[in-house]
Amino acid sequence: MALQRPKGTQDHLPDGSPKLRLDVSARAFKHVTDAAELVLERSGAAFMATPLFEEAELVKRGVGGSTDIVRKEMFMVYYFGDHGGYVLRPEGTAGMVRAYLENGLKQLPAPFKLWTHGPMFRAERQQRGRLRQFHQVDYEVLGSADPLVDAEAIWLMMQVVRELGLKGVQVKLGSIGDPEDRDTYNAYLRELFAGHLERLSDDSKERLARNPMRILDSKSQEDQDLISELNVRPMLDFLGTEAAAHFQAVRGYLDAWGVDYQVDPSIVRGLDYYRRTAWELHHAHIGAKSALGGGGRYDGLARELGGQDTPGIGWAFGIERVLIAMEEEGLTLPAAAGPAVYIAALDAEHVPLAASVALGLRSGLRADFGYKPQKPGNAFREGERRGAAYTALIGSEEAAAGTVALKHMVSGEQHSVPVSELAAFLREAASAAVSKN
Ligand code: AMP
Repeated sequence: MALQRPKGTQDHLPDGSPKLRLDVSARAFKHVTDAAELVLERSGAAFMATPLFEEAELVKRGVGGSTDIVRKEMFMVYYFGDHGGYVLRPEGTAGMVRAYLENGLKQLPAPFKLWTHGPMFRAERQQRGRLRQFHQVDYEVLGSADPLVDAEAIWLMMQVVRELGLKGVQVKLGSIGDPEDRDTYNAYLRELFAGHLERLSDDSKERLARNPMRILDSKSQEDQDLISELNVRPMLDFLGTEAAAHFQAVRGYLDAWGVDYQVDPSIVRGLDYYRRTAWELHHAHIGAKSALGGGGRYDGLARELGGQDTPGIGWAFGIERVLIAMEEEGLTLPAAAGPAVYIAALDAEHVPLAASVALGLRSGLRADFGYKPQKPGNAFREGERRGAAYTALIGSEEAAAGTVALKHMVSGEQHSVPVSELAAFLREAASAAVSKN
């Protein structure tokens, strides 16, 4: 059998592929990143790209040494049999913040908004919507702790989703307070769970010592059963005065802008550098445990990475999950634009002429040509299949006169047009068609 792609990866396929689905369509991926670009660049965010591999230490500090991602899901990078201490990035934030600090972007006026998109890697068990190479759109704002920045970030994330036409998306919003608030909460959780040690999963026993809040995030059913039995009070009950005021301010902006959200007290983030605002985007058809995306404030991260204290906030959504949600809602892509003209030679002798006419047009227009001579009927069918606005034929007569026989594919109208005037003719026809629509 021919070799196959690695488990948990997908090929992004061109239109016309027999196995095309929205979540593996290359054009659909571009459709999503184009929507993100439109929305985010209108907000003044600058595009940036960082390496696909980073130092393991960066990811460990950025994602957290005790998380499943770092403990079980990192792809190490080997070269010449040697392990250089690099890993494939499992998420975008750590690299973006590292790059911001390393490249002196802190000198630019704050808040500084950045965005990127690209592949992320986690060695997870493969399922629908859970891949080993998946893709994210990622937005980060550095240099401001203003709740207005948080609210704008959430608004922008929803705006991208709306631009794509998705309707069934919900924002679940919470706050995880400041580190002191979390200390109080963790002390409460420690005391609460201490009496039920025997019922906690092994992972959660470990969490109880290190970071009790992460028990609430546990994937184990026994843990979740215990949590609901114990009526665990939410983190939101433990917010200090400042964190509570910040949360109220974020909510105030979202209410004023008509962003629909639900306060979800179960949203937790286990790492020390997360502060205050945290949220997830969920979709009715994708199931409660698989979010479309998430975001949060991470004011302690820059310091954790060895940089100067810099407040920050960001979000990421999974492109594959968004495409699955679009498929579930029956959304389709806008039709692909076809060429302005498809040029066919009627005999082998004139194929090179058809090619050179097409190449000449390509300085401003999309023009395709046939590599083999075709009869007029076949040429017109081919032009139609490619979605061309016009099909042009070149036979001996046209070659001698320096013209093409041009047929409009919708009206069927035919003209003879001199090759020297073809570009102007097609351009005018295209702008007339646009203004008619
Ligand atoms: P996280 O960085 O874990 O908060 O993930 C942010 C988003 O990335 C998730 O909500 C998903 O949409 C997407 N995502 C995370 N892990 C995967 C994965 N293994 N496969 C596909 N999408 C993922």
